[in-house]
Amino acid sequence: MSRKVFQPGGPLNMEDLGGDQFRASITLPRGEDGRMTRTCPDENCSPGTFKVKPGTGITDGQALAYCPYCRHAEAPEQFASKEQQRYAKDMVLREAQRGVHHMIRDAFGFGASGKKKLGGGLISMEISLKSATLPYVRPPV
Ligand SMILES: [Zn+2]
Repeated sequence: MSRKVFQPGGPLNMEDLGGDQFRASITLPRGEDGRMTRTCPDENCSPGTFKVKPGTGITDGQALAYCPYCRHAEAPEQFASKEQQRYAKDMVLREAQRGVHHMIRDAFGFGASGKKKLGGGLISMEISLKSATLPYVRPPV
């Protein structure tokens, strides 16, 4: 079986990093005002949650982001809220479900119709593969 669970590209712009490692790019939904919630990685920070409007400041990559309350510095992706992390994991799990379905389809030789006929003559059998609807991923609150 040569197909991997994740294929390069797709809705999450998957990158195959070799072995069993992949990188997904997930765009976090923004609020109606165009801003998104960020949470300070320092658990002792209070209130620790603030909002930013992406794309209005540094545009050529940002090595570090700073908490406006405690000045804690870390990579920007470390400021994801628990809800944003949950959303990202759910999006990847959804993509994994799609990938596993394609692996099963390829491994058993199902065509695009999702059906396969076995045997012939007196005894034959037709099997079909039905895919479950991909789960809805609730956006972060
Ligand atoms: Zn902080």
